[in-house]
Amino acid sequence: MSDATPPAPGPDRPREEGLVAGGAHGPGRLRALTAIVLDTLEDAAPARGGPLPAGGPEAVARNTLARFDPVLPEEGIGPESALGDLVRAVAEGAADPADPACVAHLHCPPLAVAVAADLAGAALNPSMDSWDQAPAAGVIEEATTAALARLIHPTALAPDALITSGGTESNLVALLLARERATPGTLRVVTGSNAHHSVHRAAWMLGLPAPVVVACRDGRIDPAALDDALAALAGAPLLVVATAGTTDEGRIDPLPEIARVAERHAARLHVDAAYGGPLLFSERLAPLLAGLEHAASVTFDLHKLGWQPVAAGVLAVADAGMLAPLSLRADYLNADDDTEAGLPDLLGRSIRTTRRPDALKMAVTFRALGRRGLGGLVEHCVRTAQEFGRAVDARPGLRRRPGDIGISTVLFRPAAADALPDEAGDAVVAAVRRTLLAEGRAVLGRALAEDGDGRRRLWLKATLLHPDAATADLLPLLDLVTAAADRAAADHAAAEAPAAEDTDAPLAERLSP
Ligand SMILES: *Cc1c(COP(=O)(O)O)cnc(C)c1O
Repeated sequence: MSDATPPAPGPDRPREEGLVAGGAHGPGRLRALTAIVLDTLEDAAPARGGPLPAGGPEAVARNTLARFDPVLPEEGIGPESALGDLVRAVAEGAADPADPACVAHLHCPPLAVAVAADLAGAALNPSMDSWDQAPAAGVIEEATTAALARLIHPTALAPDALITSGGTESNLVALLLARERATPGTLRVVTGSNAHHSVHRAAWMLGLPAPVVVACRDGRIDPAALDDALAALAGAPLLVVATAGTTDEGRIDPLPEIARVAERHAARLHVDAAYGGPLLFSERLAPLLAGLEHAASVTFDLHKLGWQPVAAGVLAVADAGMLAPLSLRADYLNADDDTEAGLPDLLGRSIRTTRRPDALKMAVTFRALGRRGLGGLVEHCVRTAQEFGRAVDARPGLRRRPGDIGISTVLFRPAAADALPDEAGDAVVAAVRRTLLAEGRAVLGRALAEDGDGRRRLWLKATLLHPDAATADLLPLLDLVTAAADRAAADHAAAEAPAAEDTDAPLAERLSP
């Protein structure tokens, strides 16, 4: 029997006698069950027939719920059936980022190697809060965070990094560390109007005043406006939060200028590089992040431009000493005498307690691809976005947002929307997106962003993160958008027309918010 063939459940593998994934016999059980999962995944993608299921939320809810009713049966139906049913449900009803037409968000298709590593992590289930739950996993995490810390702060004397659940937690911890070094109640956070909402939410959770918001130009913080804002707050401990890769536009704030302004006002700098951070893997693209070395802390996600399955977040700090406020004693996890006897103390490495070994899949990916391999994937996404942008420019029915493409995010809108007054035009853009979602044909994002005339308009957003989709794979999106826009504009005209016969009712319904 070849390795690829799942072993048939037979007398030598008494499944009933064992339940767990680990141990000597766990992998055998897991292999049989994984075969069901993989077969089901393989069948489900063609059954879905597109990047997401057709029919919109109601149809998806109906079809999904039908596959596992009741949720908690009195008697179980067994692992094979339960897995088959629910894996089919989740896969047939997925918005699958591995489909080139699924480009709404910073939602990446994970690498097979990273998913395979995650399976090992799940089977062994180390918990990263104490050495006695994660002896080797703790070492892997420490070495991986050390490598990331050196990548992000190459010239710092004692850089360090923590694994987080993502950018939201990284930003929260960055604000927490800044708050803890200030006299209680005094820290002021200053950020751009382009900042991620998690910065505001972190301030709210930490009991800080709402961040002061500085104006942006072309989606990037205006350093002169930042200078004014910091001057107005003179005397308070200050934290500037800049963004390297904005969620809506992929814009990178002018980090060297911002660092200079922050230094002049003795403000600490945090850079949210959740999206843009992995540009550092590419020698050619890393210069786009010049100035990052001045940041005291950096948010860096690997479940966006790093192709890890969720979750894979990092918070890097220039100086390990900054992490001292997170240290904590809990006798059952890191008693003083255990620590003195040499058991590593992991509890201060997170605001969480029980925690997945997310560093394992990162470490496997780093080893498998190397920095150059990862850099090549980042370059592929950036290049694809440039080519996709040129394809948009070449289409008479479409208009790209004026200006440069930010990292791998392309904003565009149908010309049919431009022909209408602002509000109606934006409604057509929104309708195009919803129509394609409802039809299961494309998952495009939306972003409000400044147009060439300085007015904010609604754009369709393509966030290109597929590490091996070719530009040609993306071009059908443009046909879909053009066709849907023509229908939406016709529908708008019909709705405006005085005495309309109601022939288009279903379309009109579909386009209503
Ligand atoms: C995605 C994103 C976040 C939030 O990160 P999560 O991993 O979703 O928690 C924060 N900042 C920016 C700029 C982002 O793009």
